[in-house]
Amino acid sequence: MLIVMDQHSTSAQVKAVVRRIEDMGFTANPIPGENRLAIGITGNPGPLDPGEFETLPGVLEAIPVTRPYKLVSREMKPEPTVVRVGDVEVGGEGFVVIAGPCAVENERQTLTAAREVRAAGAQMLRGGAFKPRTSPYSFQGLGRPGLEILQRAGKETGLPVVTEALDEESLGLVVQYADVVQIGARNMQNFSLLKRAGRCGKPIFLKRGMSATLDELLMAAEYLAAEGNYDIMLCERGVRTFGTHTRNTLDLSLVPAVQEQSHLPVFVDPSHGTGRRDKVVPLARAGLAVGADGLMIEVHPDPDVALSDGPQALLPAQFRDLMDVLRQMAPLLGRKLPPSAGAPA
Ligand code: PEP
Ligand code: MN
Repeated sequence: MLIVMDQHSTSAQVKAVVRRIEDMGFTANPIPGENRLAIGITGNPGPLDPGEFETLPGVLEAIPVTRPYKLVSREMKPEPTVVRVGDVEVGGEGFVVIAGPCAVENERQTLTAAREVRAAGAQMLRGGAFKPRTSPYSFQGLGRPGLEILQRAGKETGLPVVTEALDEESLGLVVQYADVVQIGARNMQNFSLLKRAGRCGKPIFLKRGMSATLDELLMAAEYLAAEGNYDIMLCERGVRTFGTHTRNTLDLSLVPAVQEQSHLPVFVDPSHGTGRRDKVVPLARAGLAVGADGLMIEVHPDPDVALSDGPQALLPAQFRDLMDVLRQMAPLLGRKLPPSAGAPA
């Protein structure tokens, strides 16, 4: 149930509504909105009677929410959520490109990648210090020293940094160093991690599980919102299918489907979505065209020696060319991309 307050309602009237909800044993969630004050009710085991609330002073209307996810649904909040990360706005007119290596390997590799992607016009830097690898013998990430390197590279280039928390222990470290916490595909339904992440005070970049439905993705986001964190960016990164021509099947149809059901911004990751460098550029273009709010792209200064995901990493020159094409496409699609900053310093 969503309680929409009258524009002229007083704070005492709002408090009285919150008290009524809490007295019934439910949770009152103030919904941030531009033009109206609304209170979402969660924790009710079944449907509520709108009449119970519409008679309270200051209430404009009470709207039943029919979706299993409440706080992240468009029914609760019709206007798109804009997530602010430093000076970067995600979910507005701007199209935001997050780029960088799959993993932080060393200072030189990360700093070179950061300078290159910044020069090409990326607005955030990515790089994993805790890597979810299929094999326990593969490079697992540098851990805390990796976070330190990433943070330095972010500071030097002025780019906010995005990095993955694998578990509750690494989450504690990641929040100390990162601007955005990534929850990866393999952890999309790690509910205890989601609850912690919802309380961590940082924006969350939530990737779709490799066999997750739209509803499951949105329910995972609901875990974050239910803890009070609405700064959520969703990401399509490909799902498992029978196809072998790519690593995963990038499901671009998720983007308009999310936009229909949810107010949260949504990204496309054509790097994990295809796993092959030559497919990343065309599907990045498609990500902008389908209406995503941004892209996540892996870029490595020397992919042949990368410790993870080398085959899908773009070379810096390829990334620059891609950004040039995206800048040409963006105005047609009503999006804005920042200009390139020129050659890396
Ligand atoms: C990543 O972004 O480095 C990553 C591991 O992605 P995913 O969780 O989508 O596999
Ligand atoms: Mn990767």
